[in-house]
Amino acid sequence: MTTTLQHWAGGAVLTSTTERFGDVTDPATGQVTRHLALATEADVEAVVGAAREAFPGWRDTSLARRTQILFAFRELLNARAGELAEIITAEHGKVLSDAAGEVARGQEVVEFACGIPHLLKGSATENASTGVDVHSIRQPLGVVGIISPFNFPAMVPMWFFPIAIAAGNTVVLKPSEKVPSAAQWMAELWREAGLPDGVFNVLHGDGTAVDGLLTHPDVRSISFVGSTPIARHVYETGTAHGKRVQALGGAKNHAVVLPDADLDLAADQTVNAGFGSAGERCMAISAVVAVGSAADPLVERIRQRAEGLVTGDGRRGADMGPLVTRAAQERVSSYVDAGEAAGATLVVDGRGVTPDADGDGFFVGPTLFDHVTTDMSIYTDEIFGPVLSVLRVGTYDEAVALVNANPYGNGTAIFTNDGGAARRFRNEVEVGMIGINVPVPVPTAYYSFGGWKSSLFGDTHAHGTEGVHFFTRAKVVTTRWTDPARRGGAGELDLGF
Ligand code: NAD
Repeated sequence: MTTTLQHWAGGAVLTSTTERFGDVTDPATGQVTRHLALATEADVEAVVGAAREAFPGWRDTSLARRTQILFAFRELLNARAGELAEIITAEHGKVLSDAAGEVARGQEVVEFACGIPHLLKGSATENASTGVDVHSIRQPLGVVGIISPFNFPAMVPMWFFPIAIAAGNTVVLKPSEKVPSAAQWMAELWREAGLPDGVFNVLHGDGTAVDGLLTHPDVRSISFVGSTPIARHVYETGTAHGKRVQALGGAKNHAVVLPDADLDLAADQTVNAGFGSAGERCMAISAVVAVGSAADPLVERIRQRAEGLVTGDGRRGADMGPLVTRAAQERVSSYVDAGEAAGATLVVDGRGVTPDADGDGFFVGPTLFDHVTTDMSIYTDEIFGPVLSVLRVGTYDEAVALVNANPYGNGTAIFTNDGGAARRFRNEVEVGMIGINVPVPVPTAYYSFGGWKSSLFGDTHAHGTEGVHFFTRAKVVTTRWTDPARRGGAGELDLGF
């Protein structure tokens, strides 16, 4: 029997008041595996209410106790990471090794947040004016909202909630309705780790749930990750309602390959970065900019590797899994049709791939286009599938101009053995995360993750010290204590000075 997933609030399942339900599918088989309650406004009220009630107690819980709970969560996650990876693969479709990698990257943020006592230390100045001292502290915001996309059901929430919780906030997570089970699993893990009820809550739903959080007066901040149009909506609505908002949007990431690059390395890396997780990564490389004589040998190397990839059920040792939904599969295939019709050279065609899977999954195999131009929809749009486009340019300057003309600015990479060229690229390119001979330059947890331009609305990136700042607000205290010898002017208290 197919179960229906409900919200999680105040440390227990909260049955929705809804009459609207979503389907959760296993993308490798096409089977519906669960139903999902889609929140009503009353549900939003109830879940936010649970977080609001838990806030004063959690805010006043000592840093020592909070840290113990974070360490306990880390230990449990470490021991049971495989379970979470299986849940991710069953709903997202990415292969198990990718899912395990996702959990590991999220866990790094948990480990970073275990250092919260150090990260929350303020500063102090003695004698700013005669007899006057100044110190600063950072305090939690209250109830914070996290809204996540389908492509990283565990890692993206973990970019935010470990730090939010460690800093003393209470959390309402609204996961993607396509992949809701990982959030529920993590909620139960928090309870096992000893987190007080109501500190971590899960609200399931779609736009109604999101808009409920964006306009709710008790929600102090929103951390959003998803597509650019929704990120813009979230930023504009959330800030109009007085909230602190960080909204990370879509991407079109370029790899620039110079003629002096190690072309085998560049081909290996662009294949991993283009087709890993079926291209459903915000840091996927979807455009390869081949400079001068690099183009022909590079396209040949990518072709060979792409044709060797096995597409199939992520639980069976395939290299690449399915797309997340039937609609995503159809959308990606229609972009391949459009690329062909626009005159790009289709070198490897993933439509009609025969996957290693049972049932009727949502597969498109690795697809490679050459001679793509910047006016084609396969270049202008974020396809979010296993489609790699090669654009050919004559010079380094043309390559940088092409990357900088793109409205997105999430990640980019350059492949070269020329340190001077790499250094210029690092300086000149208008993108938030840069890889030099590294195709998916995801910052480690103690740095911050975020793009530029249409890839980020707001000015704060995720995790690292920017994450700590986002989830806390500063207070500056100016103090004057008169000398005990002058106390009260009446000398009532004799301290023997
Ligand atoms: P999406 O924008 O469709 O959904 C993201 C979240 O917004 C989900 O929780 C969804 O329920 C909610 N949502 C969807 N439509 C809404 C609406 N009309 N009103 C209010 N809320 C709505 O994104 P997705 O398809 O789940 O994820 C893929 C996108 O996320 C890609 O564009 C990808 O580049 C982006 N992404 C970006 C980053 C980054 O770091 N910049 C990371 C991961 C994914």
